Amino acid sequence: MCGIVGAVAARDIVPVLIEGLRRLEYRGYDSAGVAVVREDGSIGLSRAVGKVAGLSEKLEKDPLVGSIGVAHTRWATHGGVTESNAHPHLSGDRVAVIHNGIIENFQPIKDEMLAKGYEFHSETDTEVAAHLVHDYLKQGLDLVEAVGKAVERFEGAYALLVIDAEDPDRIVVSRVASPLVIGLGDGENFVASGVPALLPVTQRFIYLEQGDLAEIRRDAVRIVDTAGHEVTREVHDTEWDSASAEKAPYEHFMLKEIHDQPSALADTLYGRVSNQRVIPESLGPKTAEMLDQVENIHIVACGTSYHAGCVGKYWIEEIAGVPTQVEIASEYRYRKVVVPKNTLFVTLSQSGETADTLAALRNATEGEFIGSLVVANVDNSSLVRECDLVFLTKAGAEIGVASTKAFTTQRTLLRILTIALARRNGLTAKQESALVKELNRLPALIEKTLKLNNQIKKMSLQFSDKHHSLFLGRG
Ligand code: GLU
Repeated sequence: MCGIVGAVAARDIVPVLIEGLRRLEYRGYDSAGVAVVREDGSIGLSRAVGKVAGLSEKLEKDPLVGSIGVAHTRWATHGGVTESNAHPHLSGDRVAVIHNGIIENFQPIKDEMLAKGYEFHSETDTEVAAHLVHDYLKQGLDLVEAVGKAVERFEGAYALLVIDAEDPDRIVVSRVASPLVIGLGDGENFVASGVPALLPVTQRFIYLEQGDLAEIRRDAVRIVDTAGHEVTREVHDTEWDSASAEKAPYEHFMLKEIHDQPSALADTLYGRVSNQRVIPESLGPKTAEMLDQVENIHIVACGTSYHAGCVGKYWIEEIAGVPTQVEIASEYRYRKVVVPKNTLFVTLSQSGETADTLAALRNATEGEFIGSLVVANVDNSSLVRECDLVFLTKAGAEIGVASTKAFTTQRTLLRILTIALARRNGLTAKQESALVKELNRLPALIEKTLKLNNQIKKMSLQFSDKHHSLFLGRG
């Protein structure tokens, strides 16, 4: 799943689109492209294999200007890494589409479109979306209706942005499983697959929900849910500033995020623990009540979050005495799980959008759990919206793919959860105070550890020519 950015404004939006793509580069991709509706009503298209910088160079030689447009970084799933497979994909000189994800049943639709005389210029699954929407438009449907009718036919997980050169005042978007956020500006509006892409232009966001279809104009946003009803979704001000998604002065994001840890941990602890104890009210109104009933815990997560969960299990069993099972979501969601009485379902996810974890939660809520709790870094993400209890890490934007500060803040919250559970199982005030003091020391200890950087650098010279490392340890 790669990068999506769209903008509709009264100014030239190409620089906004390219900057947005640049800010999504961390997700990895193989090619990039942009399409705008020009002032004369024609579609301008520019695409390049490789980096966004390559696309930028191309645009310097051959500029595109427009006040409405869409841009994409692709991670090929259908068809090779070529310029003609890069997005946007056009249908005739009218419709431009960008797409994250997969349209699983593209083949029969492609056959149908070929029979109708549409020419395909790529090997992607995406191109069927452009022709299908075009076909519905030609039948007289309005752009929202055309996109709505097209996505009704698609199977898969995707996010789509569509513009129509004959109706150049709006972008129509659809979200099925892949994330999309709308960024609200002043007389201009934006959409992207992730908040960091839009931080230079806005701090106000609407998170689209599963199955939402939205029409984005300069001065208005209209959202329709899966049932076809117009809905109002809450507007959120993000605390992330543009700088939090910048790596300067560090060489790369991972290094920056390692150094962010003291403040990220301090932010995560802030308001949740006093000098002596965990502040129960800070965990949310229903938390104490629910934790009182917990007799078992299932922790379900993927990747790094799964490993945070493994650490959590040791703590919860040792300190709180609550039997805890940890499992990778992609296994858990597909097998029959035996759920003991009074089990709490706990998920961990940096983004709050991890697809397998979300699917595991959705299966689980139909079952016999007493409730669900999520530890996530992104407010209003799907997991946050769907879980009963929410523990938000305050790590700020984590861009590096190898997780650092999200991992350490997740474990901080698991430690707090452990204390809250243990209290009920006989943890004394004295014991709690000792545990909380350790937690409160963490930011300063990490700070101190980071000061070893130069020594570590020197030591690393002895290892830099080695090909493998083996870490041995317990707990
Ligand atoms: N399935 C599409 C393709 O192969 C989109 C891939 C993506 O998410 O970038 O072009």
